[in-house]
Amino acid sequence: MLTALGSFDWRFGEYMAETRNVRVCALRAGFLCRCPKCGRGRLYSGYPQVAEHCNVCSLELRQHDASDGPAVFVVLIVGAAIVALAMWVELAYQPPYWVHLVIWAPMIFCACLAALRPAKAILVVLQYKHKVLDFDQSS
Ligand SMILES: [Zn+2]
Repeated sequence: MLTALGSFDWRFGEYMAETRNVRVCALRAGFLCRCPKCGRGRLYSGYPQVAEHCNVCSLELRQHDASDGPAVFVVLIVGAAIVALAMWVELAYQPPYWVHLVIWAPMIFCACLAALRPAKAILVVLQYKHKVLDFDQSS
């Protein structure tokens, strides 16, 4: 699978794309919500909104459209984790159903909101490294 996405540099523990000569770790830049080119500028201007351009290297980011891809990944991963936790609580403690509602509904909401930005940022960084989108080449 890594050969389809690029290569992994075991010395530095960084994922290196084969299509761009960029030394930014995709996972680190994604989790920190940083620019895919320089790894220092902010990727977002609002909660889910990608900035017009990087404030450090001026890479144009506005053409990015991650669409619903990150949300699908987040919902599936968070949903699987919450269902596993809810099943464990049910089997271990057998609480009434209203307790499940009080515990898991806010947890699902908060976990999805917390994971959406990094998931979208990782997708933007991977798209930049693999030239999926038409990012500005001049900067
Ligand atoms: Zn930048």
